[in-house]
Amino acid sequence: MPRKNAIESDVLVIGSGIAGLSVALHAAQSARVLVVTKVAAEESNTNYAQGGVAAVLGEDDTISLHEQDTLVAGDGLCDAEAVRVLVEEGPREVLRLIGSGVRFSRESGRPSRLSLGREGGHSRRRIVHAKDRTGHAIERVLLKLARAHPKISLLENQTAVDLILESKMRGKRARAPERDRIWGAYVLDRKTDAIGAVAARATVLATGGAGKAYLYTTNPDIATGDGLAAGFRAGAQAADLEFMQFHPTCLFHPEAKSFLISEAVRGEGGRLLTLDGKPFMNRYHRLRDLAPRDVVARAIDFEMKKRGDKYVLLDMRPLGKRLLTTRFPHITRRLRTYGLDPAKEPIPVVPAAHYLCGGLLTDLEGRTTIPGLYACGEVACTGVHGANRLASNSLLEALVFSRRAGMALLRQVASSRLEGIPQVPEWRTNGAVQAKEQVIFDHNWDAIRRVMWDYMGIVRSDERLARAAAMIAVFRDQTERDYRRYRLDADLVELRNIGLVADLMIACARRRKESRGLHYNIDHPRRDDRRFRRDTVLTRQDVR
Ligand SMILES: Cc1cc2nc3c(=O)[nH]c(=O)nc-3n(C[C@H](O)[C@H](O)[C@H](O)COP(=O)(O)OP(=O)(O)OC[C@H]3O[C@@H](n4cnc5c(N)ncnc54)[C@H](O)[C@@H]3O)c2cc1C
Repeated sequence: MPRKNAIESDVLVIGSGIAGLSVALHAAQSARVLVVTKVAAEESNTNYAQGGVAAVLGEDDTISLHEQDTLVAGDGLCDAEAVRVLVEEGPREVLRLIGSGVRFSRESGRPSRLSLGREGGHSRRRIVHAKDRTGHAIERVLLKLARAHPKISLLENQTAVDLILESKMRGKRARAPERDRIWGAYVLDRKTDAIGAVAARATVLATGGAGKAYLYTTNPDIATGDGLAAGFRAGAQAADLEFMQFHPTCLFHPEAKSFLISEAVRGEGGRLLTLDGKPFMNRYHRLRDLAPRDVVARAIDFEMKKRGDKYVLLDMRPLGKRLLTTRFPHITRRLRTYGLDPAKEPIPVVPAAHYLCGGLLTDLEGRTTIPGLYACGEVACTGVHGANRLASNSLLEALVFSRRAGMALLRQVASSRLEGIPQVPEWRTNGAVQAKEQVIFDHNWDAIRRVMWDYMGIVRSDERLARAAAMIAVFRDQTERDYRRYRLDADLVELRNIGLVADLMIACARRRKESRGLHYNIDHPRRDDRRFRRDTVLTRQDVR
């Protein structure tokens, strides 16, 4: 009798942020879904999103205005069809969230109307928010629905290590990725370090971003690019990884670990100042403090370097005490815990790595370039962000494209029901031993993040990128050796992924010999549409 897999499911979803939970809830209409997630289920970028979700819901707004704003921010690289899908289907997804129980802020005195915020690059007020903890409000509701769903199982403290490729299964020959197939993933239990195989008809990467590749980031610790790295290793194509968005205003304080001050603060009247109290954004863009994020981040970087300052100031006093406590209660409270009163004094801020616009290439239904593998949310490159993401379009992208992927999964699972799930091989340790000094992993981890910050940051040059590539290659070589030699734990898995993701980002940046959107290279300061108005696509052959 053929042996059965220890754990199998119709659909395996890796990650429990907005993308993972949304796709799971849609697919669970008829498929069995297993969600595995790295730590506690709510720990995700989603949970920390402050500003909100952009959608056309205001009376003075139109689909074409949102479309236009998205295309302008994307600086010539957006996929027009993907943007159209995003802006047209977005409002329905926001209403679906409201129907599911997410309580967004309402206008004061008019509870029937949503309160719509304004953020940089948006020509209208269209940011639906739950005060300044929008992501938390969404995550809480989606998680509650997923936990209560009879067809969804959720396993916490499970790190996906690598995907299971059909061609690597016993007795199968190597194949081109588009003719291969994914049958699940190997997953490490963080409490026991045991690695088990999870077999599935379809696998969804919803692992979020990779801010942790940089020394300074707004992202929580989970954002180590695991899904991007695992998908790429398996043969999926990745694109546009040079476009890391730096958020202009992260709190500069020794005790604050990556605390972001939402762009919505500037949308409501907050202003950036140099340390002598002078506004400077008027010298960089006609929209001043509401210029697109890349312009603001570069302006801050430039002012800090020119003046030799470690930070600039964000003056929130123009908002007044009332707006600070009603619209931004979380930010105001957190600042007070650090001894800062935004109603009385400007607060110190610096830019930090925030959002990865590129990712694994997908079609409009979340399919990557390998059959059986989908990607949703920040790990995916659907084409909507182009060279720069418009603020608050990412939660929206996750909602819209996760629903589409969920529908495609239902069709795939229905059509393959009669076909069994093959038995997948167990993980093989090949005599790996316990590492003698765990601390060397930490050193390499710090070094990679420092190299990325110093040489692949907000302002780049050919020489800096060449140096970054050489240094990352050394760390990757060491890590690959450690990976083969030592018994795996979650730290080594993440270190290996961070190294690969850093390498891929640098490879994309080195190919783009122009400046566009978030990619600014002083040796090629202009946009060059003739040669570079196209995505930077990487395949497995392009990188070691
Ligand atoms: C501070 C902050 C503020 C933001 N504000 C906004 C905003 O106002 N509006 C907006 O649109 N966007 C905002 N963003 C961006 C937005 O939050 C993210 O792009 C979005 O939440 C990504 O959702 P996701 O589901 O793709 O990933 P995430 O929410 O990051 O979820 C990823 C999940 O994958 C899991 N995971 C990762 N690796 C593995 C692995 N190897 N194995 C198992 N599980 C794994 C994680 O634990 C997590 O559960 C903000 C981001 C940050 C950090």
